[in-house]
Amino acid sequence: MDKNLTTYVLVASALVAGWLAINTACSRADASHEGDNGVKQSANGHSYSKSGYDVTPLPREQVEEMAKKLGVDVFNVTQKACTERPGTGELLRNKSDGVYTCAVCGLPLFNSDSKFESGTGWPSFYREFDPAHVKRTVDSSLGMSRTEITCARCGAHLGHVFNDGPKPTGERHCVNSAAMNFYKKGELPVESQPLKLETAYFAGGCFWGIEHYFQKGPGVVDAVSGFMQGRTAKPSYKEVCYENTGHAETVKVVFDPQQISFHRLLEAFFVMHDPTQLNRQGPDVGDQYRSGIYYTSEEQKNEALAYIKELQASDKFAGKKIVTQVEAAKEFYPAEDYHQDYIVKTGRACHVTNPW
Ligand SMILES: [Zn+2]
Repeated sequence: MDKNLTTYVLVASALVAGWLAINTACSRADASHEGDNGVKQSANGHSYSKSGYDVTPLPREQVEEMAKKLGVDVFNVTQKACTERPGTGELLRNKSDGVYTCAVCGLPLFNSDSKFESGTGWPSFYREFDPAHVKRTVDSSLGMSRTEITCARCGAHLGHVFNDGPKPTGERHCVNSAAMNFYKKGELPVESQPLKLETAYFAGGCFWGIEHYFQKGPGVVDAVSGFMQGRTAKPSYKEVCYENTGHAETVKVVFDPQQISFHRLLEAFFVMHDPTQLNRQGPDVGDQYRSGIYYTSEEQKNEALAYIKELQASDKFAGKKIVTQVEAAKEFYPAEDYHQDYIVKTGRACHVTNPW
């Protein structure tokens, strides 16, 4: 293949006609970098995007297995980084409302509302569905420096991103049509739908340590320190401590039920604190340090009550009464920034027992 011609065509999209005489050009990026794209990492190695997808990179063998089912064109583009001939992609002129997903693993890549007509002959988008779903890698092949884009989950080659797109991003994601499937809104297949993450709320005394250890739960997507079950809106830490607002220091736990059960969280909670102390935990005294489970579903409520009954019947707490409140969750107010990840930020020791 004439490399100079290939280079010219890639840079100057106006010369689309010249490309038609050739077939495909293939390239693979050689160095990677990752930006701040809002991904939350769970302790078991799973990564979750802000829009609620598991974006953990799939093992090579699994991708190879999936790739066996692909047609030749899709295989060449996604697995060998080939580029389809401009003007030939089925999705190039698609103007329907919907979502463009990875042709290999189904992860949503682009929304129809960011698609625009670039005149290059390839489907073009000015923004990703979620920045965590499209990985960028510097591509130095073909004698120039470009940014390759791939599916963050399965590594499928999609195309390249350039800085000559329209507002508001100024970017142009130049994507091979063959690398994507299109679904109208409401018709996304299961593998393209967000995970059904769940939320649970636990109050077990000072939230610093409770948050720290819940964050380490295998399958916990996020743990946040805050206040709930009080009488005022958006309380400050000072108000909760000194103005008798009735809030409990509470940790909001967002978890992937495919990876960890609510029951496992309950077990961890009762290892982390002493549920027999009323309105205190050790040296911390006051009703903001009370023990509580604030449920978000009837299932959580029933499970919490049953587990407390089971614990009470055991000799785990030497016959002392478990005083943990079980109430329907009211509004949760996140605590000030300096309370978040406090143990990690300050390196302070924590009296809470590691439950994992
Ligand atoms: Zn994929």
